Amino acid sequence: MNYEIIKELKTSKIVVIKIGSNILVDKDQDLKKDWLQSLVKDIQKLTEKKIKVVVVSSGAIALGKKALGKKNLNNLHDKQAAASIGQIQLSQSWQTALSKIGLQSSQILLTAEDLESRRKYLNARNTIFALLDLGVVPIINENDTTSTEEIRFGDNDKLSAVIANAISAEMLILLSDVNGLYTTDPKKNKNSKLLTNITVINKTIEGYVNKSKSSFGSGGMLAKIEAAKLCMQSDIKMIIANGLEKNSLKYINSENATWFIPQKNIRSRRHQWIWSRSTKIGVLHIDEGAAKAVSKNSSLLAIGIKKIEGKFFRGDTISIKYNSKEMARGIINYDFEDMEAIKGKKSSNIKSILGFIREDEVIHKDNLVLIS
Ligand code: GLU
Repeated sequence: MNYEIIKELKTSKIVVIKIGSNILVDKDQDLKKDWLQSLVKDIQKLTEKKIKVVVVSSGAIALGKKALGKKNLNNLHDKQAAASIGQIQLSQSWQTALSKIGLQSSQILLTAEDLESRRKYLNARNTIFALLDLGVVPIINENDTTSTEEIRFGDNDKLSAVIANAISAEMLILLSDVNGLYTTDPKKNKNSKLLTNITVINKTIEGYVNKSKSSFGSGGMLAKIEAAKLCMQSDIKMIIANGLEKNSLKYINSENATWFIPQKNIRSRRHQWIWSRSTKIGVLHIDEGAAKAVSKNSSLLAIGIKKIEGKFFRGDTISIKYNSKEMARGIINYDFEDMEAIKGKKSSNIKSILGFIREDEVIHKDNLVLIS
């Protein structure tokens, strides 16, 4: 009996396991049934120890592509059509595999938008808790059919980290086709070293991501590191491990995978939520004075805004940049058109410019989270 991860997990705690398409589906785009059954056996070992398991499973697009007999999918609509076909097979396969060991499964399809509305986020969270209390294994995927390009998670790494955060999981395991993060591309460099224990994601670690990227296709490791940042700030251990072989959960240990161990300064749950929301909607470029104030946790005022980008509305989370570098995220009090009118102006002038004033601050300090 191996299962080193079980030694790391507490009873009644939750572990989220993310399965990449490339380990669930073979090169002919058929679902690997035996592999799935072996993973389900591993899941059973966890549930026997009263550990709750949530699965984030990719594979809908790949399976749909096969069903359509297509080699390539050229645009988003084709991918959405494929996902809509493949998701049925994906859910059924999980249901069949889990029912063989007496476990019930459920399907949850989420969009980034769902998780950005606080009300929907709390709803999704409560549903997952209800399912876990019933002993069900929720199988989650992005709702690819309704996600538009700009707001798509696009990969399930970030989605699984947001889920793990929402349900206060103790651990997130990303099963992938690589062992973890290496210092350089291991396929090109024999001396490349697997990083097994990461306690902080700094410039050095980000440098390794760039160097090793080519071996992982379209920025896969980058998305995983973004997921790791969110986990570390939320007190969740994250592991990137090789899931290609059967019973991969059984064999994960401290030597053969990359473990991200959380920092001490954990953000509040509300701040974690703000931090994890999509910020592609808009950007505020601020001046030096505002950057200093924001870095000291003061509210952001209109006077410090130099330039705005994007069409955002009151209540959206947007990115705050100083010298083109993102330094914070926050919930904005004004629509983009109003922001255009009041940027660079004193708060005392907002009413005369707009004819109304919502708040003195553009972003209140309680709704502002610094990027470390
Ligand atoms: N949601 C996509 C699918 O099920 C996968 C996204 C990803 O590869 O992370 O096909």
